[in-house]
Amino acid sequence: MQLDTSSQAPPQAPPRPPQDPTQAGNQGITSQEKDSQSSPKEVLKRKPTRAPSSAWIHFTRENNRATCNYCKKIYACNATSHGTTNLLKHLRTCEKNPNREIDKKQKTIVLGK
Ligand SMILES: [Zn+2]
Repeated sequence: MQLDTSSQAPPQAPPRPPQDPTQAGNQGITSQEKDSQSSPKEVLKRKPTRAPSSAWIHFTRENNRATCNYCKKIYACNATSHGTTNLLKHLRTCEKNPNREIDKKQKTIVLGK
């Protein structure tokens, strides 16, 4: 059994210096000033980023209420229970919504019920 030694390149492992433990420790330290007023829990409490609903272009949000910008109809809008589904539904039927007709031209949504 013969090996062609001419084409056999020795594996060259570049010498890697061992990581300095002091440098690695510095990465976890931030130079932020600790604000005594903001609790550290606020950082952990992260809500999943949701794209703002297009309904808010036509509605004015106030607490848990959404007022239609066109007909001033007030809808309950609780992010956890209602969401913006009923708002978007209203936009399709709101007679004072100027975008309603444009929407119809672009695409007709037929909802079977
Ligand atoms: Zn309306």
